[in-house]
Amino acid sequence: MAKETALSGIRPTGELHLGNYFGALRQWVSIQEKYDCHFMVADLHSLTTLETTKNIKEKTLELAGLWLASGLNPKKSTIFLQSAIPEHGELGSIFSTLLPVSMLELNPTYKEMVSENPKAGSFGIMNYPVLQAADILIYKASRVPIGKDQDPHIEITREIARRFNRRFGNIFPEPRSMFDEVPKIYSLSSPQKKMSKSHGPDSYIALLDSPDKIRRKIKSSVTDSGSEIKYDELNKPAISHLLDIFYLVSDKSAKELEKKYKNSGYAEFKKDLAEAIIKHLTPIQKKYAEISKNPKAIEKILKDGSERARAVAQKTTREVKSKIGLLDF
Ligand code: AMP
Repeated sequence: MAKETALSGIRPTGELHLGNYFGALRQWVSIQEKYDCHFMVADLHSLTTLETTKNIKEKTLELAGLWLASGLNPKKSTIFLQSAIPEHGELGSIFSTLLPVSMLELNPTYKEMVSENPKAGSFGIMNYPVLQAADILIYKASRVPIGKDQDPHIEITREIARRFNRRFGNIFPEPRSMFDEVPKIYSLSSPQKKMSKSHGPDSYIALLDSPDKIRRKIKSSVTDSGSEIKYDELNKPAISHLLDIFYLVSDKSAKELEKKYKNSGYAEFKKDLAEAIIKHLTPIQKKYAEISKNPKAIEKILKDGSERARAVAQKTTREVKSKIGLLDF
């Protein structure tokens, strides 16, 4: 039986952090055998939030290098560059005719971005989930391994697939999100917000942060009142989120950690958490140091992957045009 197709992407907008890693990348690595995987550096999407595109090439290679260092294997997965496949934009423009603007205005990630930065309300940001639907459906992916924050976008993808299929004929699957054990990692400085590149470097741990930086960031992370180490998301969100991270980097459950730190304060807990994060990231950082010595090899992996991806994208685009009834030369 043919494998189901999975697609996901990350924007090369800054430092890859633990939210990206535990929300998306770790599960990408784990599903490479089970699914026909397509992983994309979402450079076109990054234009919606990047103020400057000055380092975008370097950021693209850094991101792909970190994927390889984390265990993505180009022999198993198609690793490619969004902007190298013009058919994404072509399908996106067809999809943009299927939804009312009001549906996109209600998208929670759009509302959040605009409320945080009213000047950021470009058409590109509102159109983000439409282009994302094209990214996914052009490969007829039925699975999308992502963090919880992206779930509303997959609902929009499903709606677009339904509307296209109803109007022109059934060719697209209705994809489903796939989440890892902890589908949302929270900011170190504001425990109500997700960990994000846009909330400042002290709010996240980057995969390439040095041990000293990690120790400093964890030491200064926000905690709740009272010194008890207890998993209680409602009353102690900050410590609960730190317990989630501790679990992910050490495999020790919240119960085990609560027991271990029952009689110690936050300081000892944080000290050990920082060391556990450092231990977890060290092998990735070492591999990245090797891989990044040869940016040409990373570029070649992206180029080869993009050629493979483009062949699939072109086939779907031809099928779409034929279903709609467009002339196709
Ligand atoms: P982005 O950085 O927005 O391009 O996100 C790339 C991937 O990382 C998406 O699958 C997101 O859902 C995931 N992601 C980003 N931030 C977090 C977070 N704080 N927790 C879980 N997943 C996240």
